[in-house]
Amino acid sequence: DKVREERIKYLTDERNLKAVTVCFTDLEGRLHMLDYDKKFLLKSADNLTFDGSSIRGFSQQAESDLRLNIDWGSFYWLPSDIFGPGKVLVFSEVLERDGSPYHADMRGQLKRITESLYQKDGTVFHAAPEVEGFLFKGRDAERHYHETGKFDFISTGGYYHSLPGDPLRAFIDKAAEAQRAMGFQNEKDHPEVAPSQFEMNFTYSEALVSADQIQLYKLLCRQVAAQMDTTASFLPKPVTGVNGNGMHMNMSLSKNNKNLFYDKAGQDNLSQMGWDFIDRLLTNANDICLVLNSSVNAYRRLDPHYEAPNQIKASANNRGAMVRIPYGNERSARVECRSVAPDANPYLVLYTLLRTGLEGPQPQEDAESKRSRTRFLPDNIFDAVRLFKGSSFVANILGENVQSKFAELKTASAERCPKQLGTRVKTSEIQFH
Ligand code: GLN
Ligand code: MG
Ligand code: MG
Ligand code: MG
Repeated sequence: DKVREERIKYLTDERNLKAVTVCFTDLEGRLHMLDYDKKFLLKSADNLTFDGSSIRGFSQQAESDLRLNIDWGSFYWLPSDIFGPGKVLVFSEVLERDGSPYHADMRGQLKRITESLYQKDGTVFHAAPEVEGFLFKGRDAERHYHETGKFDFISTGGYYHSLPGDPLRAFIDKAAEAQRAMGFQNEKDHPEVAPSQFEMNFTYSEALVSADQIQLYKLLCRQVAAQMDTTASFLPKPVTGVNGNGMHMNMSLSKNNKNLFYDKAGQDNLSQMGWDFIDRLLTNANDICLVLNSSVNAYRRLDPHYEAPNQIKASANNRGAMVRIPYGNERSARVECRSVAPDANPYLVLYTLLRTGLEGPQPQEDAESKRSRTRFLPDNIFDAVRLFKGSSFVANILGENVQSKFAELKTASAERCPKQLGTRVKTSEIQFH
């Protein structure tokens, strides 16, 4: 198509470009990158293969030859002071050998579902993530923690602090610069509530772009942090006694540039469609919790005392509620799902939230009364796996293959954690991403 042609021409003409980084994401959310020499890529772009059997949770031996199909619509310049000179980055779809979609490639699934939504009646799914992270001393703080049980804060300031010469501020400045260079539209960047914690916001986009940007944001934060001899950590709850890291997901649907979630006359300025979306998320919250909170550590974060909700509720101001309705106008009316952790797979998260919000079984009882009764999300990953595995709705939207594979991976990762404290594990539970 046209975009592909343009990009290929650009790559050919731009003499300073030497390499193209091709990315895909595995089922658990790890970003994988292959650097192709530009000349080789230009010759072989239609015939890229890789061995999927070595990628955990991606492929069995029998299906080890997988193919990459570059999505030329995604195209990012990599700032040379951070990633080295002469590189661009593209995302890729993963295909079976015969060219059919590979079932565990959630980016491909998200792309197909949002495209078909648009083709059906022009509906677009928008998302804006709020990804929080910590900056710790030392280059390899997460591994170091394994040995010492300790993380060292780089900064003592709190929410929005303005300490002069603060290293967290220096990190935020540098990461924001890198984001701008990569074409992100930044909105605001700030130190968060916990010491050494940060959050950087970029504008809402179509869901696929947002998910790509989450992956890039985490990548560039880690890269910038390493250059400063520090570690950017997106563990949901690395330190007890202070706030954890959330990845609040703001979502809306629009048609012909009209926000379908806005209604001036609706409760909290939200349309009936917006409330239906919320009710379906709440009704099916237990079934999909594992997708939103997919590590042992994520369940330590879910504590309303630290602004991380475990209550299956919607509210305009109670930050212990899973769904918040931020004050919105015609442009900004949206639904914010707060019970999402930053180590989740963003493609799987957005795919699941969209399908649940649109198609999830409706509440049996009167929605109003359901909203006000307090129910809780699972407080440990074993319960979340059980609920996920037993859900026919999950089987329906993800397919039995992905459902069982994901449950299997998550059980395995939970079992790698020390069990002495029962299912509520308190010590090292790090998944290296
Ligand atoms: N850190 C909180 C969480 O885990 C959010 C706090 C905030 O954004 N004010 O979700
Ligand atoms: Mg925020
Ligand atoms: Mg925040
Ligand atoms: Mg928020």
